[in-house]
Amino acid sequence: MAEIKPRILVVDDDAVLRSLATDILSDDYEIRQAEDGLDAWVKVQSWKPDLVITDLMMPRMHGFELCMRLKGPQGIAGIKILVSSSKPFASDKAQAMEAGADDYIMKPYAVGNLQGKVRALLSAGPAAPPPPGPENGAGRVCRAPLPPAPAKRDVLPVSVRFWGTRGSCPTGGLKTARYGGNTACTEVRIGDTPVIIDCGTGLRELGCELVREFAGRPIEGHIFVGHTHWDHIQGFPFFTPLYSPRNSFNIYSVCGAHSGLRSIFSDSMALDYFPVPLSSLASKLSFVEMTGPVDIGVAKVSFHHLNHPGPCIGFRIETQGKVITYLSDHEGFRKLGGDSDMSRRQDAEVADFARGSDLLIREAQYTEEEYASRKGWGHSTYDDAARFAAETGVKRMAIFHHDPEHTDDILDTNMEYCRGLVKNSGAAVDCFAARDGLKVDL
Ligand SMILES: [Zn+2]
Ligand SMILES: [Zn+2]
Repeated sequence: MAEIKPRILVVDDDAVLRSLATDILSDDYEIRQAEDGLDAWVKVQSWKPDLVITDLMMPRMHGFELCMRLKGPQGIAGIKILVSSSKPFASDKAQAMEAGADDYIMKPYAVGNLQGKVRALLSAGPAAPPPPGPENGAGRVCRAPLPPAPAKRDVLPVSVRFWGTRGSCPTGGLKTARYGGNTACTEVRIGDTPVIIDCGTGLRELGCELVREFAGRPIEGHIFVGHTHWDHIQGFPFFTPLYSPRNSFNIYSVCGAHSGLRSIFSDSMALDYFPVPLSSLASKLSFVEMTGPVDIGVAKVSFHHLNHPGPCIGFRIETQGKVITYLSDHEGFRKLGGDSDMSRRQDAEVADFARGSDLLIREAQYTEEEYASRKGWGHSTYDDAARFAAETGVKRMAIFHHDPEHTDDILDTNMEYCRGLVKNSGAAVDCFAARDGLKVDL
């Protein structure tokens, strides 16, 4: 009689790594593969594997959300999850475990290490399901339907204006007055439509400007959020257009690591932190968890996962024949994880995502000397940015997410260094520093 082998679903958007895991395990287990979280979610319903081995950073549905769904009310009773990720951030392991993972293995892994973890998980009894309730994101249906795309219009003028360019923490005071102290907020203006990337403290002033400009006319805007660390959402409650019933905003990102996009914003405005709850805002708000490119009528916007603690994505905006790419909060895969085929592929994917941009908005937070003591914080250096610009051949590169420790004078020196690197590389890239208030026409 044929032996019944335990079933394992291997989930990874990297075909080489899927085959590798399959080769290692197929003698002892029945293996099937899925290309990303959504593909896996569909396949587990019919095939009911005993164990899912999943990557974290994947298109359409990331690994944290897959964990939440698998262990939630619509999930599979007793299923085990092994997260296999190249992300070395300690917080990612913690968040994956909170989302429902039973164990975590770093890629690239040793063959014996994977086999040992799989054996241990499949010999242990069924895992206890996480407690239900709003505090635990398990099994939430966290996808909002996509809003209907507005009708296409003629070619519209496109510009980019930086409202907040500081990383990590706002910096007031005279020492940072020239470059500015507001945290991440960038406005891509396409005709009359504001497309806002990130809601750092720069968003407050943008809101005041929009109220002045529209003077009572309805504002219909789109807000894309790369990730929900404080420096990327803290301006949201101070964005005055949110308080008028005439206005409407679609807010896009991916699902959070352990709760949905709307609940992260709602929690950040809980009464302990802010006097007006999200539910009391008068404007029409629609939260959209992206599973692929979205068409917002005036632009197509796609995303790609970046190397930063927790779910973090960059955006590529294609509009009116122009391309703008926004990559903030990213540490190179090779730089952090060492040189391997896998890390080379991951870096190449990010470069492909930015290739052909008319404007690349690219973070660089540290000098190489500073980086030495900040490795693993999820950020890049000026050298990284300069190499990236040369590799991708973008037309212009705005250096963004300035370190709070960098005064105007330090930033002048660092930017001169960065421009020198770009020039020496022979690349024809116009490299400049983003600063609060700077407007760039495309
Ligand atoms: Zn940041
Ligand atoms: Zn961050």
